[in-house]
Amino acid sequence: MFQKIEHIGIAVKSLESAIPKYEQLLGTSCYKTETVETEGVHTAFFKVGESKIELLASVSEDGVIARYIEKKGEGIHHIAYAVEDIHSEMNRLKDEGFILLSEEPKPGADQKWVCFVHPKSTGGVLVELCMDRDE
Ligand code: ZN
Repeated sequence: MFQKIEHIGIAVKSLESAIPKYEQLLGTSCYKTETVETEGVHTAFFKVGESKIELLASVSEDGVIARYIEKKGEGIHHIAYAVEDIHSEMNRLKDEGFILLSEEPKPGADQKWVCFVHPKSTGGVLVELCMDRDE
């Protein structure tokens, strides 16, 4: 079951300039920064009610986020939904014909298991499923 929008991922050129901007915008402090080496991203998180904003900056000049910004500019990169059981949702979506970007959930930022769904199969929006990793 999809439970809520867990976070919205926003691609930015640099966290150093984006973090203070989002702190001003949201009126709240960034509560966590984390680098996910396997995905090549630096992340920064903000709480907005029961959802979050995740800023994503590329670790390297040819990383996925850097290439995304080159093509589309800074802005919304993905929508992440919290799911109760990531394996069963992955199977359900696969059966429905959605294209998953990994066969198995991967460890993501903020203590989550994550799986991405190709935007080609969702009408242009990169979708992330995520489930808490701490149990
Ligand atoms: Zn995300």
